[in-house]
Amino acid sequence: MRPKHLSRFFMKRAIVVFLFFYLPYQSFAWGALGHRIVGEIANSYVTGKASKEIKKILGNESIALASTWADFIKSDTTFRYLNEWHFINVDKGLNANQMQQVLQNDTAIDAYTRINFLSNQLKHKDLPQKKKVMYLRLLIHIVGDIHQPFHVSATGDRGGNDIRVSWFGQPSNIHRVWDEQLIEGQDLSYTEYTKAINFTTSQQRSQWQSLSLTGWFFESYKLSEKLHEDLKKPDLKLGYDYNFLHIATVNDQLLKGGVRLAGLLNEIFG
Ligand SMILES: [Zn+2]
Repeated sequence: MRPKHLSRFFMKRAIVVFLFFYLPYQSFAWGALGHRIVGEIANSYVTGKASKEIKKILGNESIALASTWADFIKSDTTFRYLNEWHFINVDKGLNANQMQQVLQNDTAIDAYTRINFLSNQLKHKDLPQKKKVMYLRLLIHIVGDIHQPFHVSATGDRGGNDIRVSWFGQPSNIHRVWDEQLIEGQDLSYTEYTKAINFTTSQQRSQWQSLSLTGWFFESYKLSEKLHEDLKKPDLKLGYDYNFLHIATVNDQLLKGGVRLAGLLNEIFG
């Protein structure tokens, strides 16, 4: 090969290698945007007392901005043990009672046991400040995560990460479509997005908040089951029609996540 061709050859290889490392192997849960929307919605429903306590812990960091710490920290290998905290995989075909049984006997490190752990820890007033900050950031994040249906999924395909689809012609997977691409496709900032969807009645809020923690998990589990069913069709080229069919569910889950996070924070700090 002549030098010109040679350099082109290496350039192509470099691009391939770059893309390989650039495309995330397992994407963030609810991308930064989704988490911040949940945080911003929660912020609008925390009581004055809870808000004051939260400020003592987070200082000037808002709930919205605190929500993404748990994903950013993934770049630090000393915190690798936290990777299991973001999701849960359980057996296929569970009904509500079976799900409750599974969760109540759950001793693994997963989103369910960690939400309980973090909520209990944060009730201790004498918890060191450093831990309070870390635990609160994690709790804010994980409550958001479990409202992304593919974070409460049946074992087998890593919460949809192994289901390859195309999103507007680009290779993706269904987990990533739900984490990021449906939300980012709306082309709104997290504050604009929150403003656009944050409409609830007090009746709705108390209904959502009164459902037990196992109920939150079961809701996402059923949703992910249905979304898996939908994907059994041969055509996994997703675009406008998929957005049209599912964006209301995405928005509903963001809203429920925010309202429930506020309820939980009010219970801990109220
Ligand atoms: Zn996460």
